[in-house]
Amino acid sequence: MSEASPSNAPQIADVLVPVAVDQPYSYRVPGSLHLEEGDFVAVSLRTREAFGVVWALRCGSGDNLKPIISRLEQPPLPKKLRALIDWVAAWTLAPRGNVLRMATRGAQESGEEPIRIGLRLTGVPPKRFTDARKRVLEAALSGLAIGKTELARQAGVSSSVIDALIDDGALETLALPPPKAAETPDPAFASPALSSDQAQAARSLSEAVAAHSFKPILLEGVTGSGKTEVYFEAVAQALREGGQALILMPEIALTAQFLERFAARFGHRPAEWHSGLSPRRRTRVWRGVAEGARVVAGARSALFLPFSDLRLIVVDEEHEQAYKQDDGVAYHARDMAVVRARIEACAVVLASATPSIETRENARQGRYAHLRLDSRFAGRDLPLIEAIDLRKDPAPRGKWISPRLVEALRQNFQRHEQALLFLNRRGYAPLTLCRACGHKFQCPNCSAWLVEHRVRRALVCHHCGHVERRPELCPVCGAPDSLSACGPGVERVAEEAAELFPDVRLLVLSSDMPGGTGRMRAELRAVAEHQFDLVIGTQLVAKGHNFPALTLVGVVDADIGLSNGDPRAAERTFQLLNQVAGRAGRGEKPGRALLQTFQKEHPVLRALLSGDFERFYREETQMRRDARLPPFGRLAAVIVAGPDRTAAETHARALARAACMAPEKCGWSVCAPGHIPSEDDIVVLGPAEAPIAMLRGKHRFRLLIKAPRRADLQGFLRQMLAKAVTARGGLTVSVDVDPQNFL
Ligand code: ADP
Ligand code: ZN
Repeated sequence: MSEASPSNAPQIADVLVPVAVDQPYSYRVPGSLHLEEGDFVAVSLRTREAFGVVWALRCGSGDNLKPIISRLEQPPLPKKLRALIDWVAAWTLAPRGNVLRMATRGAQESGEEPIRIGLRLTGVPPKRFTDARKRVLEAALSGLAIGKTELARQAGVSSSVIDALIDDGALETLALPPPKAAETPDPAFASPALSSDQAQAARSLSEAVAAHSFKPILLEGVTGSGKTEVYFEAVAQALREGGQALILMPEIALTAQFLERFAARFGHRPAEWHSGLSPRRRTRVWRGVAEGARVVAGARSALFLPFSDLRLIVVDEEHEQAYKQDDGVAYHARDMAVVRARIEACAVVLASATPSIETRENARQGRYAHLRLDSRFAGRDLPLIEAIDLRKDPAPRGKWISPRLVEALRQNFQRHEQALLFLNRRGYAPLTLCRACGHKFQCPNCSAWLVEHRVRRALVCHHCGHVERRPELCPVCGAPDSLSACGPGVERVAEEAAELFPDVRLLVLSSDMPGGTGRMRAELRAVAEHQFDLVIGTQLVAKGHNFPALTLVGVVDADIGLSNGDPRAAERTFQLLNQVAGRAGRGEKPGRALLQTFQKEHPVLRALLSGDFERFYREETQMRRDARLPPFGRLAAVIVAGPDRTAAETHARALARAACMAPEKCGWSVCAPGHIPSEDDIVVLGPAEAPIAMLRGKHRFRLLIKAPRRADLQGFLRQMLAKAVTARGGLTVSVDVDPQNFL
């Protein structure tokens, strides 16, 4: 076809801008400008200039529209990614502009890449030889240019030694090429010999990749069965075909070990994507992906990178709650990964030892293929899981480690094996109380107790971050020495363990320790290298890590989380405890896990102790089905929050009333009596004060909308929000479709 002549070239561009609006704005396309859908453009937005993405081009008279200012020189947003953005916005009810903002973080130039200076040997001998200088020259021998800091690090010298060698003429400087997002991984670099089970699963995955069509697959395998090795083969297939692959991980900032493992298999690390990247690295990766970088390992937001030829998405630990984003665009990255795979017509692998009920059910109904690895690699046994019944074997008063667990730890240390004590509670104690007057320390902004952090000598709110000093006197009654720490956190268990075992090398690991990701990575590596005998940690240590010397896991309180009112409480506890137990015995020696509990008859503990996971899934699934909870029904939460309690409650009630399709015969408390909702109805529950009734100074009311699976939940929500009066007085209304968090 010939070039479109100017007369029938589109004159109007609908441009989506990354702000909280749902609809694109229309602009006139100047005659001189050639645009394609997906192009980044500069437009004027009220009084400022902003970037936007061309969502549609059409003919018509654009005479009274503002013109597009310019087309930006950068890779366009691929059509399939635009389709995903539309889909996510429609599903979550988030304004499309907000989803676009999420998807283009990194698209915009964040300053020019600085010119990097490299060093190279000249062949001229230095005037003087010292040991330090010799080390530098040896390190530089490869002949390749190398950065100054890197050279200093490799030679173990200060940069002044290098400067002196430059002055002597022994080293010369030159400009290095800009860094790439990542080197291309090599599918044949180091293929492992797979067991026959693994090989069979790997073959199925590779075939799914090669088929170039939408195919969701649940890869269910016990901890240590080699799921990673198996899905690596699917990545290799995508690479052999010249396509791209995305590996989503729940906590990428902590997965240094994973990146190294990837490099050991493929020769290079994948490109890495998470919220901790510097703006420049972010841009480098974003552009790299648009230009074809082959493999990305990333946190949930990597799902919105501009892949041009995606062949495979892996969602590792698919059951993890961390895949759900709670604020901003409330999307579930696992579910949206399946959506993206459908749009891209590619394979998507959901991997887990304890899949979510949702995914299990999808597999059972045949919507997803189901592959299983039922035993650990190399004939290693799964850890033996036993309960310590705290009713019979309690810990001493004011202590948390029962004598049985103490004895098990002692024996473990005698054998020079590593142990882990798991408690999913940060800090020293979850509650501080005055023994004289009963005063409890509460957050001034939230309905939550302040958690004592003894290392920081502070009382901290885990919801809003409020910090105060722990006072000497009770602030209410003035009594001295009356404050008492109630209950344990990891710091307190560490204190107890240090008293019991003064000679073991002990490490506390929790996400709020100072030093950030860098320190955490270093510490996790030290644990893997058996530089510590005892690790005490929160869920941070439970997930995914490979600690070869670890043979004993002690769960300090297996009952935490069992009774928190969340419909997924049992499932979550089951997953977490199985995960943490699965850290034991991954090396040569067998492992075991001891769970301290008051309720070993609870279905979750019974399942873990008996190993009868199928029964747990069956019973839990049946309960969900009976209660019409996901995946057998659908839920949405609407949260109204504001500084004034009455105003928030009134608005929440107004929303509930607006939701009513038949007010004249409705049975809700807010409407006239008489109407009893049938099973096919969408039901609005509440408003009720949220479990965290106040958060960051705002009072919160929740509505829960429960719908049959086939109902148009989004349509219902849209109508409800449209019918209600606009929120005023600092009130915010947030919608959470498929909520994972019920606080
Ligand atoms: P999972 O992800 O199922 O917990 P991993 O993939 O982490 O299991 O494998 C557990 C351990 O076994 C790892 O140390 C891994 O390197 C090793 N492993 C698994 N399969 C193989 C294999 N085929 N060859 C060599 N090592 C393997
Ligand atoms: Zn708070």
